[in-house]
Amino acid sequence: MNISNVDKQYIYMRDECKCYYCKKSLKFNKITLDHYLPKSKKGTMDVFNLVTCCKFCNKLKGNRTPEDYKEVILHLFLKAVEDNRILGSGLKLSQKFLKEELLKVNKLEDLNDHVTFQSDTKRFYIKNNKVFKIVNIN
Ligand SMILES: [Zn+2]
Repeated sequence: MNISNVDKQYIYMRDECKCYYCKKSLKFNKITLDHYLPKSKKGTMDVFNLVTCCKFCNKLKGNRTPEDYKEVILHLFLKAVEDNRILGSGLKLSQKFLKEELLKVNKLEDLNDHVTFQSDTKRFYIKNNKVFKIVNIN
């Protein structure tokens, strides 16, 4: 899996060093990262679609799509914004302003080779944990 060790550490700490599914405590060198929405269902490599997972649960889960994936991805996305893990890429605005706007996101809109989140006024296009485009809506 092509994910930086920094991101892996972040996900591990965020998930309190436990398997997301069975809540078993895991040493860092024993974890796997699970795509909450599977790659085969357009799940991305962003930190908000990856959870800490023990080998057993990862195998058990396989390619199933969790029913609550939209809520979970939205929740993990907002957590990542709070933790300053979601940055702008080539945007002419301050990180402070971007963060304030991102915290208003209330909907996972679409998944493609990038992810689209929406607030009441803006749509955010995100790839590799970076916002690369913002569109005003309404
Ligand atoms: Zn587990």
